[in-house]
Amino acid sequence: MSESRFNRIKFVEQTKVSPSCPIDIDKAALVLDTTENVVLLQLKLINIGSKVISSVFLKVLLKDAANDFIQNSQPIEHTYNDLNMLPGDKYGEKAPIRLLREVRNVDVEVSKIVYEDGEIWKSENEKTEQIPKLTKLDILGNERISFLKSTLDLNSYDHTNLRYIPVIQNSSWICTCGRFNYNTNLVCKRCNISKEWIQSNFEEDNLDKNYNIFVKQMKEKAILEEKIDQEKKLEEEKNTELKKRIKTRRLRIVSISVFALLVIFSLGLLSTN
Ligand SMILES: [Zn+2]
Repeated sequence: MSESRFNRIKFVEQTKVSPSCPIDIDKAALVLDTTENVVLLQLKLINIGSKVISSVFLKVLLKDAANDFIQNSQPIEHTYNDLNMLPGDKYGEKAPIRLLREVRNVDVEVSKIVYEDGEIWKSENEKTEQIPKLTKLDILGNERISFLKSTLDLNSYDHTNLRYIPVIQNSSWICTCGRFNYNTNLVCKRCNISKEWIQSNFEEDNLDKNYNIFVKQMKEKAILEEKIDQEKKLEEEKNTELKKRIKTRRLRIVSISVFALLVIFSLGLLSTN
């Protein structure tokens, strides 16, 4: 059996975030490069701010399989320069960061951002918020997930962002994409889903209520469609029967006419003789 060069170790879950940071870490994954014998950190960054970003400075803290910091290891400082990231732009997937082979988990912090206009954002003194352990959306089962997808317009929302059960807290909410948002954020800073959608589907037992209404509506729709189909079929049968009758009648008239003509023609022949 041939082994592939790159084997994904895990997706890294974020445990804290600096809400004021204009760079959002949408996805982080650790991949083992069996040829180079190193672990690669793949990141997908999004500019969720309103200004063009030219540099992003990251600090990566290295952890082992037991989630302990690797002894004597220094955090990796990594910089992405000359980015020209416009608001909403994504970057990073194809530019992995090389780490030690024994790394099995990481904490990734954005330490500095340089904007195109020269302004600098620094994580120092900025408030950080904890992200609770999130439950994957899979727990809901395929039917409820399909229902949730059906409530979102495919053209305006990327369904791959539906990842976790959202968490609604006193002053903040964790989106289904995993992003921390304050209550003042009426749409998610990462995936743009509305807080209203999150509340209408995940507060109390709203999901069950909405899903049951949806199932009932689907059943009623199926019954109505079957009724329309039957009526259509019946109408078609009636039309076929009517056409058949008209055809038979026409044939009969033609036969009688031909017969009458033959009689007239025969009588004519007789009289001329
Ligand atoms: Zn989101």
